[in-house]
Amino acid sequence: MAGFSDAPFAEALAVPAVCVLTAFLSYFSQFVFSDETLDPGPLTRNESVVFNTLLLCLWFSYFRAVTVDPGRFIFEEQVLDADGRWCKKCQAPKPPRAHHCRHCKRCIPKMDHHCPWTANCVSMTTFPHFLRFLVYANVSLWTLGYFFWQRFYALWETRHMPAHLGPSLFALISLAMTSLVWAVTSLALGLMLITTLQGWVLNRTTIEEMEVDKHERNIRSGSKEWWDITGPDGEKLRFEHVEFPYDVGFFANMAQAMGSSNPLLWLFPLAGNPRLSKTGTGPGWTWDENGFNRKFGMWPPPDPEKLRRAGREGGLARRNFDTELQDAGLSPEEQVEAFRRRQEEDFRRKHKIMAELEEVDDYYGSDGERDSDEEDYRNGWVNADGERLQDYGVDEEAEQYDDEVPIAELLRRRKGATSYNDE
Ligand SMILES: [Zn+2]
Ligand SMILES: [Zn+2]
Repeated sequence: MAGFSDAPFAEALAVPAVCVLTAFLSYFSQFVFSDETLDPGPLTRNESVVFNTLLLCLWFSYFRAVTVDPGRFIFEEQVLDADGRWCKKCQAPKPPRAHHCRHCKRCIPKMDHHCPWTANCVSMTTFPHFLRFLVYANVSLWTLGYFFWQRFYALWETRHMPAHLGPSLFALISLAMTSLVWAVTSLALGLMLITTLQGWVLNRTTIEEMEVDKHERNIRSGSKEWWDITGPDGEKLRFEHVEFPYDVGFFANMAQAMGSSNPLLWLFPLAGNPRLSKTGTGPGWTWDENGFNRKFGMWPPPDPEKLRRAGREGGLARRNFDTELQDAGLSPEEQVEAFRRRQEEDFRRKHKIMAELEEVDDYYGSDGERDSDEEDYRNGWVNADGERLQDYGVDEEAEQYDDEVPIAELLRRRKGATSYNDE
């Protein structure tokens, strides 16, 4: 899927292709039904009104899923959490649940995945339209399926009649063709609806579903309740079981995703979507948590495998925020001296970390799958279905642990924090 959606021509053709498919199933089928030789004859007035109303809702939801902006973070002067994530591509903080989309080329609030069929991100702002599109597409397909069933049933009933009294050849061929396309489309969209509804009710994006998978695999591979690991910056991280924190109850999850606690609006095509606040707090910047973990903000949990890889690739112990901040006030000579001192410290620390990393190796080692795992990790983590985060549009390069908060940003935060304390 990723390879396909990556090709520029495919990206440009996806939306027109969906339109052609929708038009074919919606209107060509009605044209076939209007053939007088095909029992039980054209759609009744009621059938026609219901079907075409559903189609109108479908077209409109699709239009909005394609055109609504997936959201853009605008950073005012503000103090953000110093431990917060940082996107090196945007050169900006990365709020919780946001990911950098390589198609949209920016960080997207509550990114679910980049959908090739809408050529847009399914995100905090576009999710309601995407869900409505899937619901109307499926209900329309079920209705169409009922119309097909009526006609195939009539054919079966009249199977002993002389052929010249039956439907025209054109009607028969068209009926067979449209119902075949219908079957394939229904299956694909039905599966998509089920996974999307599940994500909606559990408040888990497609990307988070993979993070949960990955975390559970990491937990299973460990023999202890928790263990300490050392991050590429030399900081201590405790690896432990982290509960997915954003599931705050079925109704609250659904209301949060649709931006309204009025269920009557959830499937109304003209209803809006949650908006990303411009103030740097509230929806899109912070998320309600269920409080099952020992503290807030623990998601996503650290991934020992990713850290180990970051370590192998030479990203060890490069940063020490405190010394960098101290250095910012030193003379050039003093900075050189401080640098030398740090180099020595790094050398010592590196040996210590390598020893710990080998320990982590033990949890993965000797199951015979190591080599293929290693390969997988180099190209990004793969779940049981062989899917990568990359397949959902995530820029994996922007998801690494070496996302460094630049020194200028740290200074700005420290300044912000100080002035805040002064007040
Ligand atoms: Zn970004
Ligand atoms: Zn995107």
